[in-house]
Amino acid sequence: MSAADGAPADDARHGNGDNHADDADNSTDNSTDHRPDNSTDHRRHIGDGLPHIEVTGVDLVRVEMPLVRPFTTSFGRQTVREALLVRVRTATSTGWGECVTPAAPVYSEEFTDGAALVLRDHLVPALLGQGHRLSAGAVGPRLAHLRGHPMAKAALEVAVLDAQLRAAGTALAQHLGAVRERVPAGVSVGIPDGGIEELVHQVAGYLDEGYLRIKVKVQPGFDVAPLTRLREVFGDALPLQVDANAAYHAGDAAHLAALDGLDELGLELLEQPFGAARLRDHALHAPAWHTPICLDESIHDAADAADAITMGACQVVNIKLGRVGGLSESLAIRDVCRAQGVPVWCGGMLETGVGRAANVALAACAGFDLPADTSASNRYWAQDLTEPFHLEDGHLTVPTGPGIGRTPRSEALEDAEVERLLG
Ligand SMILES: [Mg+2]
Repeated sequence: MSAADGAPADDARHGNGDNHADDADNSTDNSTDHRPDNSTDHRRHIGDGLPHIEVTGVDLVRVEMPLVRPFTTSFGRQTVREALLVRVRTATSTGWGECVTPAAPVYSEEFTDGAALVLRDHLVPALLGQGHRLSAGAVGPRLAHLRGHPMAKAALEVAVLDAQLRAAGTALAQHLGAVRERVPAGVSVGIPDGGIEELVHQVAGYLDEGYLRIKVKVQPGFDVAPLTRLREVFGDALPLQVDANAAYHAGDAAHLAALDGLDELGLELLEQPFGAARLRDHALHAPAWHTPICLDESIHDAADAADAITMGACQVVNIKLGRVGGLSESLAIRDVCRAQGVPVWCGGMLETGVGRAANVALAACAGFDLPADTSASNRYWAQDLTEPFHLEDGHLTVPTGPGIGRTPRSEALEDAEVERLLG
């Protein structure tokens, strides 16, 4: 990362964790230009200024964690979260990353069985086949010839960076040039088994806990009525978003009528109404709505973000580091959006404390100006894998410890582990 985004607040990141460099090709920026394209410069900055690590092993640890309540979206209903953790070992440090794939290929093409296989048989061999000495900035380029699998690649990038940061004693947020010590937290509310009144009950509970923004999952048949009810109960001031997870079709008159109905409810944004590949549909309908359109599934990299903004397909972008292949691409997207005045925020994928820690550091960076989907650990887990994140006055505190600032607790990991694929 660098000040190539032209953000004055990010200039403070210079000197953060620097001067441990043994990478002769460290190309710290001297530019203040916006880079509204898919510049590779951004990628080189992840890990810059940190010592390279000598990787002695990579472990893949699969865990299963029961959710405190089922989480239902237009994709389906989840009661257990299967997560895949990547552990990068060196002689002096251990780095962790979380592969945020769901169990089935419903959010995107990626799913946990596939991610485990591609990590074991392709990504890890390709990464280490070019030498065991590396920096996080090399992960993307070394894996670029292997198509797709951004969630698996992101987990490797974060794990390598975490090992580097722990070796240097530097916090991830500091390395990224974070500008906040705590991040405002929103909560994503699934489609409840009990219908509208259960939704009202759940939202009331989350507001009592202090969440600053409510995002409700919608799908055809569960959209205008429940959101209208929330407005009746909680009033017009409630910061309210909806996320359709690509469930609506622009060619379906009933779907369009429902989206028009949602547009009348004073929502902060409408997230991904149409399919991931349907940028044109978003661009065609967005001008008719008052509600800003936010894209999630459609944005895979900075070039997608630039295209979507140029087309008028979105006014807000949800950045998930897993969806876009890691922190480097996340920051490149952030830079594109900032240059165009488009706000971004950090989404979530039901992460354990490992993935949540990386999200919170990202959400603390300049440009992430809307509350994130970085809820407290207890929104999802009775027992998180790591020291839990707590909600305090509607915010999560950004970890300040070395690396991602969270480490799986051995007992919790033993309880949750179901399979060891490497290591
Ligand atoms: Mg979404």
